[in-house]
Amino acid sequence: MGKVIGIDLGTTNSVCAYMDRRDPVVIINAEGGRVTPSVVGISKNGERFVGDIAKRQLLINPEATIHSIKRFMGRRYSELKPHELEMVQYNLVETRNGDAGVEIGDRVYLPQEISAMVLQKLRKSAEDFLGEPVTEAVITVPAYFTDRQRQATKDAGTIAGLDVLRIINEPTAAALSYVHNRKKSSTIAVYDFGGGTFDISILEVDRDLAEVRATRGNNTLGGADIDRRIVEWLLGQFQKEHGIDVSEDKLVLQRLREAAERAKLELSSAHETDIHLPFLLADATGPKHLQCSLSRYTFESLATPLFDQTLEECRKALEECRLGPEDIDEVILVGGSSRIPKVQEMVKNLFDRPLNKGFNPDEVVAIGAAIQAGILEGDVKAVTLLDVTNFSLGIEVEGRRAAKLIPKNTTIPTQKTQLVSTVIDNQRTVKIHVLQGESPNARENVSLGEFELQGIEPAPRGVPRIQVKFAIDANGMVQVSAKDTRSGVSNAVSIEAPTGLSQVEIDELRQEHSNYDERGDESDDLKALRHQIEKQLVSLEGFLRDNRGFLHKKDIFEIEQALKRGRMALLKSSDKGNLDDLSLYLARFFAHLADKTGGGDAPVH
Ligand code: AMP
Repeated sequence: MGKVIGIDLGTTNSVCAYMDRRDPVVIINAEGGRVTPSVVGISKNGERFVGDIAKRQLLINPEATIHSIKRFMGRRYSELKPHELEMVQYNLVETRNGDAGVEIGDRVYLPQEISAMVLQKLRKSAEDFLGEPVTEAVITVPAYFTDRQRQATKDAGTIAGLDVLRIINEPTAAALSYVHNRKKSSTIAVYDFGGGTFDISILEVDRDLAEVRATRGNNTLGGADIDRRIVEWLLGQFQKEHGIDVSEDKLVLQRLREAAERAKLELSSAHETDIHLPFLLADATGPKHLQCSLSRYTFESLATPLFDQTLEECRKALEECRLGPEDIDEVILVGGSSRIPKVQEMVKNLFDRPLNKGFNPDEVVAIGAAIQAGILEGDVKAVTLLDVTNFSLGIEVEGRRAAKLIPKNTTIPTQKTQLVSTVIDNQRTVKIHVLQGESPNARENVSLGEFELQGIEPAPRGVPRIQVKFAIDANGMVQVSAKDTRSGVSNAVSIEAPTGLSQVEIDELRQEHSNYDERGDESDDLKALRHQIEKQLVSLEGFLRDNRGFLHKKDIFEIEQALKRGRMALLKSSDKGNLDDLSLYLARFFAHLADKTGGGDAPVH
């Protein structure tokens, strides 16, 4: 198949890269940028804009322009903090299953769908750049993402038409960039301060090994929180001058937020910046403007409590791997917020050494993802990645307590088996509540879901021996299986987070979203035809996925060629005749496959 791309799906910006033989290359998007704003605009009639164009409409249409969606991925609405709800102008709502969703007009979008729109744009840029279909990717996530957030990211990739081969942690990706082409072994710290999250990881790296020793972070602490501190200060300035509280005015807030971010960026090089917002508000006494200056000193005093939180995490990470700052050979800075001079000064002082400035903090993660993609493709010499779990995994036991089974910082992949039994005579079912987190109190941890093992052989209580296996795979995702050892019956229990999307829902969304490959000017006929072909391709991909183990190499090759041909035509052709032919060809191809394999579900056409 085609190239596997590496994607850094960021809170503020996203970057996509691939390996050109042994060299990582950042993909340029349609607007000519190396970085694509993770912003999506949705018009009243459902049309969508992604990237720079969407970012530009943030001010004019803040309620239908979605930014920072990564903050809400895989999170329950009830766990969002008030300031997170206030941080955005669009309407966050609770979805049917308790997740946070975005309401625009009469439709509620899941964060996975919004992220899928950003991924779709990146995929399209990659296809245009490489001149071939792109269907596989490695996507990075903050090290501190929970299982549900990882799953949501993977689902977003699938909805965007990508087979997500691996989810890797952002700092681990940064370490891979560091290891690539380097011979020396060292202990490094990756300090990743982005738009919405903060992570610190300590790694041992060698020529062909990157071993994470500890990782900590806060997935609700980033540049947007710094901006918020400035916005609060600006609100105070306005109130002081005009005696008016404008903290409830959405449009004013959006203007303040933009001005705050601009001021923050300027203060990374200047010592003082002027903020001038004419006509911020008008009332009976006339228009009101905001005019003030913000010094770097004031900015630092507003934001230092946040910077302190990041340093506290660094100290704890060092403690967790029993190292002192002097044991760290290099500190690598990642993420836009690590450009702030005060942050650099504080990190430099903590580790007492110069910082490694040889990497572009915006691109180093995507480049690492591309290197991982190259390793999976076999083009790049393998680097053994030994990552760790970032949360403890456990189950709820009597008294609403949490019993830890896999402690945090355990190297992954890993697995652990636990024996459980029944509590009443002839009990046929056991229910297990899986938790992720550090608190001894079950309710203070993240619930990964409950599952049931049914059909246990009747027996007095305590007699059945049910073996429950917990495994964390290389993506950091949790899998659970259970077996009644007496009867030998094993029930395939997959841990279905109560808010997770089922495969069917993901496939439906994928088909729905494939209609919107930014081809707004096409006729309805052509759109319908594309949709039909996309459905045929999804069926064919599903057929290949489910039957790969039973098919001859020659058949696999033929199917891959048909998929490639289909994807390429979808990408390049706008000719109805061509697309009609393609749809017919796919229908016949599947009939031929069904003949060969003795029937099976024919794909839709
Ligand atoms: P990322 O998530 O890595 O794309 O980082 C985006 C965040 O970095 C946003 O909050 C930006 O405002 C912030 N950022 C980018 N460049 C700078 C800079 N030069 N100084 C301060 N913050 C920056």
